[in-house]
Amino acid sequence: MPQYNPPLRDMQFVMHEVLKVTDEFKALPKHADVDADTINAVLEEAGKFAAEVTFPLNISGDTEGCKLDQATHEVTPPKGFKEAYAKYVEGGWAALSCDPEYGGQGLPFVVNQCVYEMLNSANQAWTMYPGLSHGAYEALHAHGTDAQKKLYLPKLVSGEWTGTMCLTEPHCGTDLGLLRTKAEPQADGTYKLTGNKIFISAGEHDMTSNILHLVLARLPDAPQGSKGISLFLVPKFNVGEDGTIGARNGIYCGSLEHKMGIHGNATAQIVLEGAVGTMVGAPNKGLAAMFVMMNAARLGVGNQSLGLTEVAYQNALAYAKDRIQMRSLSGVKAKDKPADPIIVHPDVRKMLLTAKAYAEGGRALAIYCTMLLDKELHHPDEKVRKDAGEIVALLTPIVKAFLTDNGHIATNACMQVFGGHGFIKEWGMEQFVRDNRINMIYEGTNTIQSLDLLGRKVLGNNGATLKKFGKIIGALIAEEGVNEKMAEFINPLAYLADQMTKFTTELGFKGFQNPDEVGAAAVDYLRVAGHLVFGYFWARMAQTALREIAAGNADPFYLAKVQTARFYFAKLFPETATLMRTARSGSKALMDTDAALA
Ligand SMILES: Cc1cc2nc3c(=O)[nH]c(=O)nc-3n(C[C@H](O)[C@H](O)[C@H](O)COP(=O)(O)OP(=O)(O)OC[C@H]3O[C@@H](n4cnc5c(N)ncnc54)[C@H](O)[C@@H]3O)c2cc1C
Repeated sequence: MPQYNPPLRDMQFVMHEVLKVTDEFKALPKHADVDADTINAVLEEAGKFAAEVTFPLNISGDTEGCKLDQATHEVTPPKGFKEAYAKYVEGGWAALSCDPEYGGQGLPFVVNQCVYEMLNSANQAWTMYPGLSHGAYEALHAHGTDAQKKLYLPKLVSGEWTGTMCLTEPHCGTDLGLLRTKAEPQADGTYKLTGNKIFISAGEHDMTSNILHLVLARLPDAPQGSKGISLFLVPKFNVGEDGTIGARNGIYCGSLEHKMGIHGNATAQIVLEGAVGTMVGAPNKGLAAMFVMMNAARLGVGNQSLGLTEVAYQNALAYAKDRIQMRSLSGVKAKDKPADPIIVHPDVRKMLLTAKAYAEGGRALAIYCTMLLDKELHHPDEKVRKDAGEIVALLTPIVKAFLTDNGHIATNACMQVFGGHGFIKEWGMEQFVRDNRINMIYEGTNTIQSLDLLGRKVLGNNGATLKKFGKIIGALIAEEGVNEKMAEFINPLAYLADQMTKFTTELGFKGFQNPDEVGAAAVDYLRVAGHLVFGYFWARMAQTALREIAAGNADPFYLAKVQTARFYFAKLFPETATLMRTARSGSKALMDTDAALA
């Protein structure tokens, strides 16, 4: 059976020693009084919840899956999920970073980020039920009318009701402009929705008394394509003006998908038959309103893989210290045993350190992004808010795609550490691989994230935001450029940062002549950009750790951090050279292939 220990020490290191979040919060009136002790205490309790309540349900939830009653359309999630959710609500966890006006606790997003990382490590399938609700909360908070907010937000904040996002239809996933679900205006100002949605996560369950579906649909006179999409709130049970639950609405689960992973989460086909809904945001501007939820969800999906990378690493490390096989190439290490533990073998270490470097680098990036989100929403200076928002927008596709691709590499590597036992269900390692796989697909596939990054976020504004982030990296390089102890981290980072401008300009120029060049280079480009960002955070983490060591701090945590940074720059970061080469090789080898693909 796998184990999970919440990585509180590493979270504290990133928050309090590297990013110094509480110093940053002092500039935000809303969070000025939040101190490190409060954050640490909340995370300690959240860690207990994850390790003791939801983690024990991870394997059983995977084995059991969700069940649909075809007659009633009701779905029963795996045993224990409902009770765990009730404890989550009772503990006030749903309200953590929500607006106090609607019953929230108003804590910074940074706290929620760490809580969700732990929940994802413990049980991704379970965590998607509250996770999607939080996205629905954010979309309604940003775009709902006062009446909608008053009626629905307190229920989402308390966790009494959950939320979903209903975008995908059988014939349209990536290209939402094709969607067909119809919304007919009614005399009383409501709409009647008819259509079919598929793949709706947490789409039906019995864990709460109501479910709020956020549904994309078309008005009768809507323009074709993505400019004709509106957003509607469609509750499972109609809700009276006083908040009382009324009759069952015409929205139900037609069937459940049978899938590769996240079996404990109900992936529902949702049928709308004249379901009554109210519009959220302006007519035909539904995608913009839904983007609030989608952006939150993209960061959330990166966080799912971060959680899985961490838990897979912890288990592979423990196994590698325990399992004995063969002798070390450089001589016997465990003389008292018939063979050495497999952690002595260089490649086993490589697999472990890959997962560790991706988990800790991902944690630093994810916490940094949520700190920027706090700034974007609450900093009194408009320019700071704008800059923070732009950098989050730039980093969002990197968090979504780089962290989930890394999760794929890391969970596979950790499974490999177990040899054949990794392939056997009872060890739990193959589940981490399976559960992670969807993270690279939903919320916009990783290819779509890479097009968003290179096409929109970088070339779309002539590299202006990339340059802004380049300045942040430049400041670290200027600060540490003459420090010999930092040279092994700063030199490769400075080299890549310097190359990045030329590389981007070159791709932009080729893309201007032939747009397929952007499509051919984008996935490689995102991975290079991901390493640039990780390189920056690994250099900062090494900087903090080296300073502690120089000051005489003998805590082995710091030496471990420096060693992991060394591994990262020596073994993972250099793939940027190959990626730049393949990106530069252009689109011809892909597009002039009609005979090959005939
Ligand atoms: C378990 C699960 C849970 C999900 N949860 C939800 C949910 O809660 N709500 C919801 O609305 N949806 C959900 N989805 C749907 C998910 O977001 C879509 O599957 C995803 O966006 C891709 O759409 P698609 O499956 O139609 O693939 P397609 O759009 O058909 O894409 C197929 C392939 O073509 C590629 N492709 C498409 N267009 C381009 C392009 N322009 N350039 C390059 N490549 C391209 C894609 O990257 C992909 O590799 C879920 C899906 C699954 C499997």
